[in-house]
Amino acid sequence: MARLERTASGSEQRENGRQQVLGVIRQSGQIARIDIARETGFSPATVTAITSDLIRAGLVEEIAPEEPRSGNRRGRPRVALRLRGDAHLLAGIKVAVRSLSMVLIDFDGVTLAEHHVRLPDDAMPPARFVDEIAKALADLTGKIGKTTRDISGLGVGMSGFIDAPTGFVHWSPSLDTRNVDIRSLMETALKLPVFVDNDANLVALAEQMFGEGRGVSNFIVVTLEQGVGMGIVVDGRIYRGKRGVAAEFGHAKVHLDGALCRCGQRGCLEAYVSDYALLREANVLMRFGDKTTPEDRLDMLFDAANAGEQPAQSILDRASRMFAMGLANVINIFDPHLIILSGEQFSHDFYYADEVLAAMKNQVLKIDAPPPEVRIHRWSDLMWAKGAAAYATEGITELAVRGMNADA
Ligand SMILES: [Zn+2]
Repeated sequence: MARLERTASGSEQRENGRQQVLGVIRQSGQIARIDIARETGFSPATVTAITSDLIRAGLVEEIAPEEPRSGNRRGRPRVALRLRGDAHLLAGIKVAVRSLSMVLIDFDGVTLAEHHVRLPDDAMPPARFVDEIAKALADLTGKIGKTTRDISGLGVGMSGFIDAPTGFVHWSPSLDTRNVDIRSLMETALKLPVFVDNDANLVALAEQMFGEGRGVSNFIVVTLEQGVGMGIVVDGRIYRGKRGVAAEFGHAKVHLDGALCRCGQRGCLEAYVSDYALLREANVLMRFGDKTTPEDRLDMLFDAANAGEQPAQSILDRASRMFAMGLANVINIFDPHLIILSGEQFSHDFYYADEVLAAMKNQVLKIDAPPPEVRIHRWSDLMWAKGAAAYATEGITELAVRGMNADA
């Protein structure tokens, strides 16, 4: 019995085969059938059958072989296959505190439009949050003369505790309510498939698809912005944990009964290193004008620290040491091949300083082998949005391949 259960059904096998072939084509950009057979281990006949299904479904197209430029090319030029870009239009949104960054890509990952929106509040009622996204999507698609109806799928990356398979938000700083079935709300309002995940997981996906994580099967991404996030890739897959809330590096405890965190608990790393934690200390130790915004105050804090002013420097110094300790804990637990520190704001550069990385290395277990490589990768919110769009691409590909089975 056990053996029977492990054996995939015919339609599952077909589905897996198509997924694998699509994955290989996506990775290579364009590739000949014979090379797909080599990459997947499928027989040339199987590859021919699968690719003709994919062509019929409109997901893949043939590219006419290039004419040999001179007579020195031997053999007949081979027809290559590539993804059909206009098969699907996908949108990705990165929800940050008070802003949305959005991108529209085609099925082949080509960026077609970008859009940024300021949000009126940090945390919004779910219905208003969905409204804001609906409006922003209409503006985004309008940029290339399309509408939301033309989108096949939407990926949304937001910070908080999110169960990706169900799109359920246990908690997010962007919503004023806990336990929100945000995917259902959005799918009802937008009438399209929506895929929601923790934003740090989507940065890990983006790093894996188009960044520093390409070809690396075990790596960890630590993100730094308003909060601290982490994405873990193990054996080429994002590790999400049983409840979907794994890798909450920002809520790793670094202090017993310590500072109060946005999540409601005490002593979390985020309560020491995030923007709001820095501001909480700066508001006590520094003098700001009444009308300054949090962003202004943060800038003033960084400027003061750069100018060597004592209270400001001590605030950032303490936060850096906390961050180094947190990173060393992660390395001691996972021993990854690579750690990518991924952040947008240059204001967080002090976390990437050599002294911080040296402090981290001092706390990493020492053996006769170098510690894991740490790479710093700065990129914009748009790349986060592209990670969200990539997540929607994965989801839509799965739905499309399953739909082909139903047709078969
Ligand atoms: Zn916390």
